[in-house]
Amino acid sequence: MTIPSPEVSPEAKSAERITAVRKTGRAATVIFLAGLAACATFHYGPRPDGRPVPAHHGRRAFVNPQRTELRGFGAFLRWRLGLAPEEPRPIPAAESAVYEPEVVSPDLALLRRPDPAGIQVTWIGQSTFLVQVEGLNILTDPVFSERASPVGFAGPRRLAPAGVALADLPRVDVVLISHDHYDHLDKAAVRTLGNAPRYFIPLGLGRWLAAAGVHRFSELDWGQTSSVGSLTVHAVPAQHFSGRTLGGFNRTLWTGWVVETGRGRLYFAGDTGYGGHFREIAARFSPLRVAFLPIGAYRPRWFMGPMHLDPPEAVRAFRELGAEVGLAMHWGTFRQAEEPPAEPPLYLKKALRESGLDRDAIRVLKFGQTISLE
Ligand code: ZN
Ligand code: ZN
Repeated sequence: MTIPSPEVSPEAKSAERITAVRKTGRAATVIFLAGLAACATFHYGPRPDGRPVPAHHGRRAFVNPQRTELRGFGAFLRWRLGLAPEEPRPIPAAESAVYEPEVVSPDLALLRRPDPAGIQVTWIGQSTFLVQVEGLNILTDPVFSERASPVGFAGPRRLAPAGVALADLPRVDVVLISHDHYDHLDKAAVRTLGNAPRYFIPLGLGRWLAAAGVHRFSELDWGQTSSVGSLTVHAVPAQHFSGRTLGGFNRTLWTGWVVETGRGRLYFAGDTGYGGHFREIAARFSPLRVAFLPIGAYRPRWFMGPMHLDPPEAVRAFRELGAEVGLAMHWGTFRQAEEPPAEPPLYLKKALRESGLDRDAIRVLKFGQTISLE
């Protein structure tokens, strides 16, 4: 079968759609092809301790126990070539036509002397936050590079600068990594941070970290717990996938994190689609003080739905989690999907309004903005 190119395909819906396909193409290709190859020799079970193999440990790779229909390569090509039916826009095109990232100069003095009685949070971009609590500085999915890509000359380029430069950060004590995709795991950042922090990483990622020269890590499966200082860190389920090299498809786990602090529990969702895990996390860890939830890279829904929340799903997850404060992430930093980069916060506002929740229930921070939760 010959697959028509986007330029000549009679099925392509419009010139605008082709443009969107082209724009998202390189980013999506890097993300998808990075995890494409099979891993025939991979096998997790049986466990040496004789206990049952967890449902997310497949024979050859990790799997999503709740919903396994992540789209395959055929579907990826359909999306890339614009052959799937066009989906209605949740926000009128005119409203999301212009994206001007809101960037503020970070308050570096505040970062050096956070209020010891509160939780101080700074959005750096994508899923990278600096969370300061109980005298400890936690960095989530630290990404500072210009591109979320294996190479410096191609792949999705930043739409907004990192809100705080890596060199301007205060001492980092703890790093949480959700999974190995390039927009969450940045080798240059890890190498710069080095062995000063303690890393919490999902199962299977230890080898990658060791190869990057980092040895201070706790490598956890879902349900496992470790601690550092006054913090207790739990790996919790997410619905996603992994892979950054050929041969690496789902060979390392993807995870969310719950961090127990003296100021309350924090939940960092990583990358995830919607599933029953939010209720499970709430049942085990309620009350949650803060939930960091992804709101971007959701269109087209038929392709992205299983792996990325859209804003109405983020609102639903937030409600089920029962968290006190929601903080939006995973939008506006790299172009990764078909929605315009300005759309996620507008769609979130609409979803919050329709849900009856407070319009600021899930807050959207500016790049570099610091907030303090008393
Ligand atoms: Zn991902
Ligand atoms: Zn991501």
